[in-house]
Amino acid sequence: MDNITIAPICGLCAGCKNAIKCATDAIKKNSNVFLFKEIVHNENVNSHLKSLGIGIKHSLDEFNLGDTIIIRAHGEPPETYEYLNRHNISYIDCTCVNVKQIHDFVNKYSANGFTNIIIGKYGRNNSKMHPEIAGTIGWSKTPVILIETEEDCEKLRDAKNQKFYLTCQTTFNENNAKNLIQKIELLLSKNNNELVVNFSVCGAGKAINLSSSELAKKVDLMLVVGSKTSSNTTELYNNLSKICKTIFIDNTENWKELVEKENITLTKEIKIGITAGASTDPEELKNLKNKIEGEICQTI
Ligand code: SF4
Repeated sequence: MDNITIAPICGLCAGCKNAIKCATDAIKKNSNVFLFKEIVHNENVNSHLKSLGIGIKHSLDEFNLGDTIIIRAHGEPPETYEYLNRHNISYIDCTCVNVKQIHDFVNKYSANGFTNIIIGKYGRNNSKMHPEIAGTIGWSKTPVILIETEEDCEKLRDAKNQKFYLTCQTTFNENNAKNLIQKIELLLSKNNNELVVNFSVCGAGKAINLSSSELAKKVDLMLVVGSKTSSNTTELYNNLSKICKTIFIDNTENWKELVEKENITLTKEIKIGITAGASTDPEELKNLKNKIEGEICQTI
């Protein structure tokens, strides 16, 4: 059926794909394999890994000798590695190469007299700090200035004769990051400050957004598959909602109810686009497409 299209670029980013592959490869060779915290914000991916026998641990004191710990793509602060090494616990480091590079720079610049500025979701207004930020902060040898909104930029207003290194959470919204950087550049251009900018927002989210937006322009209805706890999926949903009717499918088992709740009756005339953020397995989208096709065929 060609009225249902999956966005050409969508689903798990390279970093998360790699972490999932490492975990599934590891469980074939070892019995006590554990993720250190959720690998992605996606229930289906996490329960699939659980069904393979891969456990999950949430804090360092849960680790035991004989475990194999999978460090997810978001990365970890140095304390985690120190703990694992000190206790001889084996681990597979799946920190995404892009995140690893940020850690290295943050570490190097802070050792050379720069103050690190990190743009990202750090837990403003009681929201949770993004785990990537928590990991990156740990690599700085000196206190970090965290910026999430324009208001936060005021933290830099009185800076004088200082050197700053700026980096971004890889999954932070690109436009918001650019606006914040402009503001920071303006503030720091006075008083003899120095600013080095590493625009480290990852292209994965942007590519998904572009591909999905193009598709949204050609269809009547977009279905965004993923968890509501995933910030990039929520952002994708918000963007696509501005282009066409969009439904958030946070549980593909309930897709029919979610569509019906919006008073939409699926027919073979309705053009449907399916997409997902960087934490959803593309297999889930294929399965959803098949289910919808089956349903439409039944009603014809
Ligand atoms: S979003 Fe990009 S930088 Fe972040 S883990 Fe995925 S591939 Fe790596």
